[in-house]
Amino acid sequence: QSKELSQARIDYHIALQSLQEHGTRMVCTGKMHTDRICRFDYLCYSSEAEEFVFFHSNSSVMLPNLGSRRFQPALLDLSSVEDHNTQYFNFLELPAAALKFMPKPVFVPDVTLILNRFNPDNLMHVFHDDLLPAFFTMKQYSDLDDEARLVFMEGWGEGPHFDLYQLLSSKQPLLKEQLRNFGKLMCFTKSYVGLSKMTTWYQYGFVQPQGPKANILVSGNEIRHFAKALMEKMNITRQDEAEKDGGSSEQERERDKKDEYIAVFSRSTTRLILNEAELIMALAQEFQMRVVTVSLEEQSFPSIIQVISAASMLVSMHGAQLITSMFLPRGATVVELFPFAVTPEQYTPYKTLATLPGMDLHYIFWRNSKEENTVTHPDRPWEQGGIAHLEKDEQQRILASADVPRHLCCRNPEWLFRIYQDTLVDIPSFLEVLKDGMKSKPSLKKTKTASTVHPGRVREAHCQTSVQTPNEAKLTVSWQIPWNLKYLKVREVKYEVWIQEQGENTYMPYILPQQNYTFSENIKPFTTYLVWVRCIFNKNLLGPFADNKRMNT
Ligand code: UDP
Repeated sequence: QSKELSQARIDYHIALQSLQEHGTRMVCTGKMHTDRICRFDYLCYSSEAEEFVFFHSNSSVMLPNLGSRRFQPALLDLSSVEDHNTQYFNFLELPAAALKFMPKPVFVPDVTLILNRFNPDNLMHVFHDDLLPAFFTMKQYSDLDDEARLVFMEGWGEGPHFDLYQLLSSKQPLLKEQLRNFGKLMCFTKSYVGLSKMTTWYQYGFVQPQGPKANILVSGNEIRHFAKALMEKMNITRQDEAEKDGGSSEQERERDKKDEYIAVFSRSTTRLILNEAELIMALAQEFQMRVVTVSLEEQSFPSIIQVISAASMLVSMHGAQLITSMFLPRGATVVELFPFAVTPEQYTPYKTLATLPGMDLHYIFWRNSKEENTVTHPDRPWEQGGIAHLEKDEQQRILASADVPRHLCCRNPEWLFRIYQDTLVDIPSFLEVLKDGMKSKPSLKKTKTASTVHPGRVREAHCQTSVQTPNEAKLTVSWQIPWNLKYLKVREVKYEVWIQEQGENTYMPYILPQQNYTFSENIKPFTTYLVWVRCIFNKNLLGPFADNKRMNT
């Protein structure tokens, strides 16, 4: 508590003097506006101008110092969505001397993280665009701790999931509209601006049709680390894990098996499953398990996560609620249902999540291919998929099409029309897909024993050559095991050797179980070869190549 007080009571005069003398200081990471996060001392905000302000003095710092490139197009992205032109951050500049003529600044003592939420109404966006990026941005900068203050600058109200944002720190997040309560000019003593994009796996289709990001940098491990931290904040303990950790007896495993259940995520306003009761019965019968329904309209978020975190399977229509699959236990199955004319392969935020390496979820989709089982809503407002506002021809074309063509975000009427259909799930075809999909489910045991420790380089690689006849030569290569191997239990260790004739683009690859080999096939006398060696654990964990060896035969 004394820390709270001493922090809150920063000496006003010292702060003001410091701002006047030193001005604002900024140092950033990132070469491009799309991968930049900036740290500021004394970044100010004018609620009158609705602009951030950088005060120049003799000792202010601005790195990168971009000159007017700062506006091409912006200093940085304020949300985690890449290069979105409504999400840019920049500041205005003033000389520190102007402070004399300005309203007295109010200083914010907390270390602050300033960002835009992208779409706080939608649960998928809340997690993917805001919570995960903010969580890991805070991990990146250690002074963004549990006492950090978050400021949301996108200008929206709290939204339906504000309690989730409140889990990120112990201090109440501030909304843009609340900043004016602090007076005309407020100055953040220490702040970070922007979000890490390291955890995002999906792009929503602003410049090309939606799909997984080109270079995904997150694994299931980090997602599960975040999910666990959030569950702890929500006071949810995973029943199953608590028990399993204690080493379960045969009896306990038997009981666990009996306790297994399937969760069906129900939507009650749009994109309905019209025969939910029938679907639930079919699932219960097929898997001999209890089936539990959850819904955002009827339950608190923590109580939903409590259910999902111990479910063996989650069944849901395509939609934002499927982001909760990150809370499923390892080894669980995600079953995503798609309405008529929606191609599952083109809408894969949840598939991508479930199949991230180390996420250890099994993913299955089902699509309605029977037009008679779909219920359309042509007369709804356009944002709920209505098409009545379109030309008659266009309406006819949409109605006649059985596949939504590839499209960009976000207002494509054919896409909205199809994705907001309700569906009568054809039970036989659904069970067929499910049974089929479960056949290829890997056992968790196998995935669990698979290590993720990569080999080091092979050491002390040596080559020897000998010329046998004018047409024949030999090349003997040997090496020592990677340094880390002696500390590891690895099921299978192999070595890959590439032999490349100097000046050629191609090479001959060999996979070998031993640490030396004499190559004679395709080895020519009086030729220069480059030899590359690397170690491979368990078939697919590749190590780095050791420095190549150059040899003359
Ligand atoms: N939502 C819901 N029940 C419904 C329809 C929507 O809980 O019947 C939630 C949904 O999970 C999401 C938000 O409302 O968080 C917006 O839904 P929308 O259909 O616009 O988005 P989508 O689910 O397609 O991402």
